[in-house]
Amino acid sequence: MTTRSVQPATSTIKNQHQALSTGDDRDRLPLLAIDALRQSLLSWYAEVGRDLPWRQSRDPYAIWVSEIMLQQTQVKTVIPYYHRWLTLFPTVAALAIAEQQQVLKAWEGLGYYARARNLHRAAQSIMQHHGGTFPDCLSAVMTLPGIGRTTAGGILSAAFDQPLAILDGNVKRVLARLIALQTPPNRAIALLWQLSEALLDRQQPRNFNQAIMDLGATVCTPHQPRCPQCPWKMHCQAYNQDIQSKLPMSELRAPLPHKIIGVAVIWNDQGQILIDRRRQEGLLGGLWEFPGGKVEPGETIEACIQREIREELGIEIAVGDRLIVVDHAYSHFRVTLNVHHCRHLNGEPQAIECDEIRWVTLADIDQYPFPKANVQIIEALRQKG
Ligand code: SF4
Repeated sequence: MTTRSVQPATSTIKNQHQALSTGDDRDRLPLLAIDALRQSLLSWYAEVGRDLPWRQSRDPYAIWVSEIMLQQTQVKTVIPYYHRWLTLFPTVAALAIAEQQQVLKAWEGLGYYARARNLHRAAQSIMQHHGGTFPDCLSAVMTLPGIGRTTAGGILSAAFDQPLAILDGNVKRVLARLIALQTPPNRAIALLWQLSEALLDRQQPRNFNQAIMDLGATVCTPHQPRCPQCPWKMHCQAYNQDIQSKLPMSELRAPLPHKIIGVAVIWNDQGQILIDRRRQEGLLGGLWEFPGGKVEPGETIEACIQREIREELGIEIAVGDRLIVVDHAYSHFRVTLNVHHCRHLNGEPQAIECDEIRWVTLADIDQYPFPKANVQIIEALRQKG
């Protein structure tokens, strides 16, 4: 195992932030050369920092949109969505007055749709409580739906250069390695916030936060970090101990539950398909879908589809050929959708377990926002229909 020496500290996490630390936490704060860490990171950023579209803006609304999109999604996926979103909703006011369906349609394919619903609700709240101007005060920003401490810090530091630290997934990983943290990061959140605040360059918070995000995204990556190219390699305890690939420590996770779902593409005599709009509460709220539900123990897919459609929509159908099987993973479970063509037999469809139902043609279906797994069903209908 390689051992590398740590440079002497000019000022340290410990002596600058003792006031912030208490008890055990203070003992766990390492001795770090924070001036050298700041300077080396900012020099590296000036040389190789990413030129991202939202970094060309100081508009807190545009920065907020990018921060929310980036929460669960990679930069290259976000860029076209970001541009399209700002064309559709160029201001807080434009977003606030949009129909929710239009907002969800603009988000279609990005996943984690609560983010879009929260952006929409927050825009309405900004119109109502802040006269349409994005607030520049941390406590006010943190009352908006979908904005926690790190997102608020990211927005306010990028838009107004306020000295607020961030602690997103990338930053947690970098800091956990910097101090060779011996627990999963989510069990040391207070300590990592202290570190992030202690390291933040209060003269250049915008650049510093963007630099540390870039370090996590491009060099201190989850797998095979590129330590020889890292501006922090001289100070990094994981690298010094040659354990960078073992950190951060991960939580033990139970396998994801797997749900088998029967799904109906119900046709009427006019060649239209029945779709329903999910309830606002819960996963994928407000999105449209093909109706169906979970297969009960001992039940066939066909029997499940007939039962679910009777319970959810109050109609009788005949279940026909299988159209497609779609596997999809969400954050806490995965599903297998067994999708069948079905024929409407009798009864007037009712929105018993959903917000709305509609008969639509395949040509018109693109107007409606669908979850990703359902988009595959539409593609299959187009190919095989
Ligand atoms: S030296 Fe390696 S492990 Fe340490 S911060 Fe840099 S990239 Fe991450």
